[in-house]
Amino acid sequence: MTRTLIENAEIVVTMDAERREIAGGSVLMEDGIIVAVGTDVAAEAVDEVLDASGCVVTPGLVNTHHHLFQTLVRAVPGGQDALLFGWLKTLYPIFLKMTPEDFFVSAQVGLAELALSGCTMSSDHQYIFPNGAKLEDTVAAAESIGVRFHATRGSMSVGESSGGLPPDRLVEAEPDILKDCERVVDALHDAGDGAMVRVALAPCSPFSVSTGLMKETAGLARQKGVMLHTHLAENDEDIDYSLEKFGCRPGDYAESLGWTGDDVWHAHCVKLDRAEIDLFARSGTGVAHCPCSNCRLGSGIAPVRQMRDAGVKVGLGVDGSASNDSGHMLSEARQALLLQRVKNGADAMSAREALEIATLGGARVLGRHDCGSIEVGKRADIAVWNVSGLTAAGAWDPVAALVLCGPFAVRDLFVEGRPVVSGGVLTGVELGRVLETARTRVARLMG
Ligand SMILES: [Zn+2]
Repeated sequence: MTRTLIENAEIVVTMDAERREIAGGSVLMEDGIIVAVGTDVAAEAVDEVLDASGCVVTPGLVNTHHHLFQTLVRAVPGGQDALLFGWLKTLYPIFLKMTPEDFFVSAQVGLAELALSGCTMSSDHQYIFPNGAKLEDTVAAAESIGVRFHATRGSMSVGESSGGLPPDRLVEAEPDILKDCERVVDALHDAGDGAMVRVALAPCSPFSVSTGLMKETAGLARQKGVMLHTHLAENDEDIDYSLEKFGCRPGDYAESLGWTGDDVWHAHCVKLDRAEIDLFARSGTGVAHCPCSNCRLGSGIAPVRQMRDAGVKVGLGVDGSASNDSGHMLSEARQALLLQRVKNGADAMSAREALEIATLGGARVLGRHDCGSIEVGKRADIAVWNVSGLTAAGAWDPVAALVLCGPFAVRDLFVEGRPVVSGGVLTGVELGRVLETARTRVARLMG
């Protein structure tokens, strides 16, 4: 039995049902679970005590959408200013060169960045498997960093010769896709509380696979009891494509395929209309909101205020590093707030609401009722933020400062009660060595 106590926090932000914020609070963790929260936590038989004075303690941040393999293609010149489809066409030839080692290193870099920005649980959407790459490559990277990981087995089956966007060599045959989906669920998915690895099934988008594969994937996911994920309604081109090809809007298309429900979450949803928002609310369908990516690619401003007011589950996603070039979770929360304010006014989203979306909101989107808040019985996924340094200097409200000031790096991060970041340093890997390997891999991809 391992007991760790975080004590004397300036404030513990619980995200419990009452959204309590406990001044001078402590949190006791035992074997990966939170066993006490408050100001009168008895420190008996504790193995380790962490002084959190001058710090705000929050639930770990949850990233609901990423393409970790893209971390090694940041700021690629030909893609810097392109729109979504043009951007993809620039990157496909580079993706074709990637090896299993590239997938592993790229994921390590991306997850290291996420962990240092307070993220304890990340989803990943891998939809290409060139040169023998497997879902296991990124799962191994997550294990090395120590974060909880929801790997999604993506797919593309409509190549250039069939009227699709990607080169034929990057797409897979649909029977092979379904076979590997089944394989990775059986090999990697843990349905239990406290799971460190879960698998979801995730065709890349409705325009990169057939209608048949969308339906069959949904059937397989439900048979196996895993979640479904894809990109939906990202920009105007996306809506036009859906109207032209399927004769309906993306939300209706998703519903017709069985792609709505509380076991489904869609990335972006920038262009959902009123009826689609109601459909998502009614069906319990979740949204991975990716504000930086939406800005970076000029996709638009997602109607997050309207979604939240309607009762849609919303979490945050940094999206692939190539369409964001940054993977900082707390900055993503800040960007979510700023975008809603640009569209709807300064009272459209508070810092606390942005923090809630980044923590509890993400956990709900990923179906993790065991994570997302600091409450007795929940998994011990906790971020400790130093608010006594320059970044928050002069702040009157240290909780709001986490979102309004910044960027912050996390001081300490616990996942399942284990330290993943300690004193600002990753515990699972030597960051310098990871970066050195990444430089070598990028040089090879450039050649
Ligand atoms: Zn994406």
